[in-house]
Amino acid sequence: MNATFQLHDSPIFVGSLADSFPHWLEAESYSQVFIIADTHTQALCLPVFLEKTGLKPHPNLVVIQPGEGQKNLATCESIWQAMLAANLDRKALVLNLGGGVIGDMGGFCAATWKRGIDFVHIPTTLLAMTDAAIGGKLGVDFQGIKNIIGVFRQPAAVFVDPDFLNTLPERELRSGFAEVIKHALIGERALWEKLTDHHSAKAVLEASIGVKVRIVAEDPQEKGLRMLLNFGHTIGHAIESYFLESDDPLTHGEAIAIGMICELEGSERHKEVAAFLSSIFPHRHIPESAFSAIWGLMQQDKKNASGKVRMALPNGLPYGMKVVEPSREVVVQCLMRNNES
Ligand code: NAD
Repeated sequence: MNATFQLHDSPIFVGSLADSFPHWLEAESYSQVFIIADTHTQALCLPVFLEKTGLKPHPNLVVIQPGEGQKNLATCESIWQAMLAANLDRKALVLNLGGGVIGDMGGFCAATWKRGIDFVHIPTTLLAMTDAAIGGKLGVDFQGIKNIIGVFRQPAAVFVDPDFLNTLPERELRSGFAEVIKHALIGERALWEKLTDHHSAKAVLEASIGVKVRIVAEDPQEKGLRMLLNFGHTIGHAIESYFLESDDPLTHGEAIAIGMICELEGSERHKEVAAFLSSIFPHRHIPESAFSAIWGLMQQDKKNASGKVRMALPNGLPYGMKVVEPSREVVVQCLMRNNES
């Protein structure tokens, strides 16, 4: 597989890093490269990256602890401190080597450093390859609310090398597959027909990226159609945030899978989609005592307007969308049905 998408000024290369990154870097004139990784991607992905690109082991490297719990301003501060220590100037390049947490937060740190310097994403999870690394949304969580602080800024380039998936744990692969399923449900029917299970991810990666690129190209700032990419996320993000501090947090994809099932309730595709998602994702009971908190978290959703919660749902393929305003009762009912299923 070797494909290149163009999203405004940013190329997205799909295929071996060896075929794209060295030429791309050579054609640019960056003063230095600064790598951001977490401990897992440092151990498992950095050696692959260095081998494929021929770059020397790099002194300009900051490594953070892995996980959503780190995606906050305190970690940004430590990244900015490392940037300061490395004396990063405005011609430096930040390279985000990791999943969506590293991409969102590393991109945010770069986009705010000296009013914004270039960064590239090298996504290493399926979720980041198909979704988080594409589209220029950057940011961190704040006070337990996901992604509430952030900016839009497109990466200078994105390099999607499926080989990184070889070390990705099964649960994380499944998590990313939720976004692939979402892309199939909002975009291309041909993609839906190709889906089997998360092990088929590499085969559908390019088509899935194509859906995201098509939508972001039309609506980069989420003023309309891009809201459709949020399908499953209004309820899913709230569930993810609720369990974030628990002993057993859900992955992003596990939460979005529940969100997609809930948000499709009443639609003609509900049964088929719920059956497919339930065959892939483990069932998660949501205690009734959590329902109010989940509804409360939904009040923070960035799509809301005039105090009303808004959900963006698919409405015919390809790319049809409708926006609905669910009541608290509707959300509670669907969470109860999740528990009964
Ligand atoms: P993540 O970055 O936490 O990665 C998941 C885990 O996999 C981590 O432990 C990480 O260290 C590990 N890992 C990463 N690559 C690996 C590899 N190749 N081999 C072994 N382990 C590896 O999580 P994620 O699921 O990639 O991303 C979730 C984040 O993405 C959330 O914060 C979510 O809000 C964000 N997101 C952003 C957008 C966007 O448009 N910006 C879209 C969707 C999701």
